[in-house]
Amino acid sequence: MPFRISTFLAASAAGGILGFAVFGARALWFGAWLGALLWFGLDIWRARRLLSALRHDVGSLPTRAGGMWGEMAERIRKHLRERDIQTRQAQDRLQEFLAAIQASPNGVVLIDEQGRIEWTNETAAQQLGIDTERDVLQHLSNLVRDPAFVAYLASWNYSRDVTIDAPSLRQGRSGQPVRLSMQIHPYAGNRRMLLTRDVTALEQAETMRRDFVANVSHEIRTPLTVLVGFVETLQNLPLDADERSRYLRLMAQQAHRMQTLVNDLLTLSRLEGNAPPPASQWTAVRALLAHCEEEGRALSRQLNAQGHVLSFVLEADCEISGAPVELQSAMSNLVSNAIRYTPGGGEVAVHWRQLSDGRGEFSVRDSGPGIAAEHIPRLTERFYRIDRSRSRETGGTGLGLAIVKHVAQRHGGELRVESTPGQGSRFALVLPRARVRPLPAPGPRA
Ligand code: ADP
Repeated sequence: MPFRISTFLAASAAGGILGFAVFGARALWFGAWLGALLWFGLDIWRARRLLSALRHDVGSLPTRAGGMWGEMAERIRKHLRERDIQTRQAQDRLQEFLAAIQASPNGVVLIDEQGRIEWTNETAAQQLGIDTERDVLQHLSNLVRDPAFVAYLASWNYSRDVTIDAPSLRQGRSGQPVRLSMQIHPYAGNRRMLLTRDVTALEQAETMRRDFVANVSHEIRTPLTVLVGFVETLQNLPLDADERSRYLRLMAQQAHRMQTLVNDLLTLSRLEGNAPPPASQWTAVRALLAHCEEEGRALSRQLNAQGHVLSFVLEADCEISGAPVELQSAMSNLVSNAIRYTPGGGEVAVHWRQLSDGRGEFSVRDSGPGIAAEHIPRLTERFYRIDRSRSRETGGTGLGLAIVKHVAQRHGGELRVESTPGQGSRFALVLPRARVRPLPAPGPRA
């Protein structure tokens, strides 16, 4: 400020001296006044220049201009620079935050007070069929028209979620709509955040769990009812020794059926919960096949006096790695199925070979009734049976192929089923190359 006063005084004095020098003493005050006016004019011009820069183009603020206006311009520029840095940092933080929401597996939609879309992440856009740019400020209820959701959005009661079919997504091959859980969380007054979550797998698991419990209860209830009936008969009726032993035999059959079912259930739960099968434990296929043969021949004799034409061929002497108990159980299940479903006198051919790419294949071919194509994809579902009565008569639990599929998957292999109704079926357990190694041929005896 003293600088300002001194420049003002200097301008007046210079004007006065100039007036005195040119026009004499009379012009002294006039010159001083003119000098002061000139100083004011210049001062106003500099103020206007600063104002115009502030109004139109902050970038053109005068640099290194001295005086009060110069300092003001400098301070404004510094202040703006700091604000710029802060804004950029805030924008970076916002971008990081949005990127984090983008990465979320759940859908997020921000909705304004009127129910219009303000922002949506890619997941929600895909699930709800929203265009992240074009549909901004569109009413959400115009795009997601499910009546349950529209009512939920309008209710302003968001204590629970609502589950709807995704408007734009279908599940893989089944083509069923994807199921979405939609929950709104209000924030900042009347704004709302919609979270969407794909609950298809969860719903399927819940349905499977319910069906499974219902199936197990049903499977156990039937033999249990029969057992209770026999117990009551034995308690209430005077039976002779023959009848008693007949009833006891039938009771033993039912008890055995329940025991088999419980054993299969335990096997399945062990398969689901156990550590992956070891890669370093090797078992000779020859031994596994011999066990299958022993069991198969006994079962064939037990089921049918006529028996079956059974053949067991080991094309390549190999070892396979994994859990021997699981592998044996899978192989025995396939052999037992073929024998149980093929009428007496039919053929069952069991074969082990190494495929040209090194994988191992255990196959069971039968000349039984065959399986219609529509049943094949469902055979490994728990308790799925085509011929219910044949399965029960022969001691089936409906869990055999589910166990085989589990064992195959745990060993990195697969179960293949080929069948033609009326001509028979072929079930093959294929194991990956890493789990199969040929045994060296025995050398000549000394
Ligand atoms: P189950 O204990 O009833 O045999 P599985 O899971 O082993 O149960 O088999 C499921 C169903 O697949 C059986 O009920 C049967 O209808 C059918 N199935 C399995 N193997 C054969 C086969 N070799 N020939 C014809 N049908 C079969």
